[in-house]
Amino acid sequence: MFNHRPVPLLDVSRSNSVIRDEVLEALAEVYDSGKFLYGPQVTSLEKSIAKLCNTKHAVGCASGSDAILLALMALDIEPGDEVICPSFTFFATASAVSRMGAKIVFADIDPRTYNIDPQQIAAKITSKTRAIIPVHLFGQAAQMNDICNLAGNRDIPVIEDAAQAIGAAYHGRPVCSWGTIGCISFYPTKNLGGFGDGGMLAVDNESLADRLRLLGGHGMRPRYHHQEIGINSRLDTFQAAALEVKAKRLDAYTAARQANAARYHHLFEESGLIKSGAIDLPYQDPAAFHVWNQYSLRVHDGRRDQLRSYLTENKVGSEIYYPIPLHEQVCYKNLGYQPEDLPQTHRAALEILHLPIFPELTEEEQVAVVSRISSFFQSARSRAVA
Ligand SMILES: *Cc1c(COP(=O)(O)O)cnc(C)c1O
Repeated sequence: MFNHRPVPLLDVSRSNSVIRDEVLEALAEVYDSGKFLYGPQVTSLEKSIAKLCNTKHAVGCASGSDAILLALMALDIEPGDEVICPSFTFFATASAVSRMGAKIVFADIDPRTYNIDPQQIAAKITSKTRAIIPVHLFGQAAQMNDICNLAGNRDIPVIEDAAQAIGAAYHGRPVCSWGTIGCISFYPTKNLGGFGDGGMLAVDNESLADRLRLLGGHGMRPRYHHQEIGINSRLDTFQAAALEVKAKRLDAYTAARQANAARYHHLFEESGLIKSGAIDLPYQDPAAFHVWNQYSLRVHDGRRDQLRSYLTENKVGSEIYYPIPLHEQVCYKNLGYQPEDLPQTHRAALEILHLPIFPELTEEEQVAVVSRISSFFQSARSRAVA
């Protein structure tokens, strides 16, 4: 058995160390300017993100979670309204709906992509449906053509949760440009990861963009005149300045993630683990430009947790996104879902496992990850034979 250095699930210091001087210089500039909010760096980052998303406007805010909340506020979602979203996602997708007092309606996922299934959405649309929130999970776009057709035929706004998918596209069209409003997160683990919290809204419609900006600044315009009840949610100038340094490199980061995914594919094919039926590799929708925020394995025969412990023992980082679907969370008991009401979601939460995929991951590290996984299944097989 060979030895290897620990392989972390994520190591942000590898990319951050390379740009350290440039980031510190950008921060010093903000420091000296004294414009800590609404600085020019916020405006220029908004411009470059709008361009990336192919939307006319982008509006900075304090986090991806706030972006979703602000989107629902700008669409006037009210108590009694229904909002359809997946249960297989990070909590913030649904909690924003609860914060508005609206009713969450969970739709099941496509078992191949783990993204919300358009047919399941169709089955849950009622006369009270006021918004649909598809999530582009793990960096792969949901089936936006079908979702937007369903929604458009009924005049239902679509809010894209693109927290994990900046730079992704579907049929060549960037995420955030399909729906009514797109929500982006700069949380450090995201593909454009900042140095703390941050978020952005990408939107085509000018009056909607203006309303989002108003709502994120306490509905105040002009100073101390409150047009409506907003919240305090802005992107700091410090954060924007540092993010600009990284945004320039986003294409290279994305390409590195894609190369890592391709290398895993090759290594796993060689390992024979796929043929044996022990695991499934992540499925790539041919219409999707996948940006690989996460690399997910599906582990069969109830072996996921054993494999994860084995990897931990052998110093290979892994994670489960997400171990408890939202419809099975204690805080959502009141919604009345049984685990099996969303069978694909329930199953995915039991079988999925995520491996390191960050841009600076080395080939040597990937070889170590795959060989550790192979040795887990080999030792399990020899135990079964003995
Ligand atoms: C990270 C994430 C969010 C929330 O973003 P924050 O910036 O952490 O608030 C929302 N939805 C999904 C799917 C996410 O992964």
